[in-house]
Amino acid sequence: MQQIARSVALAFNNLPRPHRVMLGSLTVITLAVAVWRPYVYHPTDDSTPIVKNVPLDKFELQNLLPEDSEPVDQSTPEPEEDIPADDIDKDVPDNPNVHDYTVSAGDTLSSALNQYGIDLGDINALVSSDKDLRGLRVGQQLSWTLNADGQLQSFSWELDRRETRTYQRQYDGSFKMQQELQKGEWQNSVMKGEVHGSFAASARSAGLSSSEISNVIKAMQWQMDFRKLRAGDQFSVLMSREMLDGKSAQSQLVGVRLHTGGKDYYAFRAEDGKFYDRNGSGLARGFMRFPTVKQYRVSSNFNPRRLNPVTGRIAPHRGVDFALPIGTPVLAVGDGEVVMAKNGGAAGNYVAIRHGRQYMTRYMHLSKVLVKPGQKVKRGDRIALSGNTGRSTGPHLHFEIWINNQAVNPLTAKLPRMEGLTGKDRSSYLADVKTYLPQLALQQ
Ligand SMILES: [Zn+2]
Repeated sequence: MQQIARSVALAFNNLPRPHRVMLGSLTVITLAVAVWRPYVYHPTDDSTPIVKNVPLDKFELQNLLPEDSEPVDQSTPEPEEDIPADDIDKDVPDNPNVHDYTVSAGDTLSSALNQYGIDLGDINALVSSDKDLRGLRVGQQLSWTLNADGQLQSFSWELDRRETRTYQRQYDGSFKMQQELQKGEWQNSVMKGEVHGSFAASARSAGLSSSEISNVIKAMQWQMDFRKLRAGDQFSVLMSREMLDGKSAQSQLVGVRLHTGGKDYYAFRAEDGKFYDRNGSGLARGFMRFPTVKQYRVSSNFNPRRLNPVTGRIAPHRGVDFALPIGTPVLAVGDGEVVMAKNGGAAGNYVAIRHGRQYMTRYMHLSKVLVKPGQKVKRGDRIALSGNTGRSTGPHLHFEIWINNQAVNPLTAKLPRMEGLTGKDRSSYLADVKTYLPQLALQQ
């Protein structure tokens, strides 16, 4: 290093004077720029705690500590962090990143996506890329993925069996549409088998794929607890599959029959994309909109992209808060099984209930829990008394509804309904069922 400095000095001294002056001042300027360059902080690890004092005005304080709610500096735990998965979750895991939706009567693109908290700006950008999205039809399938900021990343619209359109988010926030036309032939096939070990394993050896098994479980979710099936129980499944080059490209569940405990259980898909029993009666159990006898003031709304005003980070509010007096009875909004009843932690005393396979509700900051894990509850059952436990800024009930592992707005979400088919829909359904039933005959 010293040698280099010396040779630089020698070379410098050998230069003519004007050059020396010029080079000398350049060096000084370069050094000054290097020294004065502002220090840029590059955060490397988001979890590193940084302690600093942030002066807050009253407005910001109110935003950070909303009344009768939770402080916004942290989001509530996701269910998968603390609710144990059961056998079916392990056998046929759902992809938690892909969200599905079947269009039902009265839906528009914005009402369908808005209950999942998807930003109106994203929905408008989607429609700008394809005006046809204004004309959704009952029974069509939608699915989407979100990016890390909770924005819509990709979207897919299955118009019918022949056509699917997909939309990809671009850097500027717009969406690019791509149309896919299926060319394969749709064929019906029947898979039959007997239960030995888990249902998923038995169905797999009868020739069903994982996603087909998952659809069978969802179609039967209100009639059947698949964990309770016994060895020797029989099943028969009618699938419609699109065959491309001799392989199944995609498939749709048409009907299923399950024989257990001396009884037969059925579910068939109707034109509206929902499943009904062999008489066209609804299978889902109805839900109550509110987890209390009367309706209370909403102190904080569902907001999956809520911003912490100080850090600018997203602290999702995955449920809705109702301000109510401590000790108010909290009711199960639907029939189900208690999967979590816990005391302590940020959520305070809290209860989680699973309804069927696709639905879950959670109730937090309770003063007293009245149920135990594994317990079956009916719609309207008292499960707890409300309170102000855990990280809470006043007496309130935090209530969440999850559909297919995604939190939805409890005030606007489409909830399962128990209505059956009527009129022409019912008669055409019953005519279809008549042709399917003989195909579902069980092995003797
Ligand atoms: Zn809350």
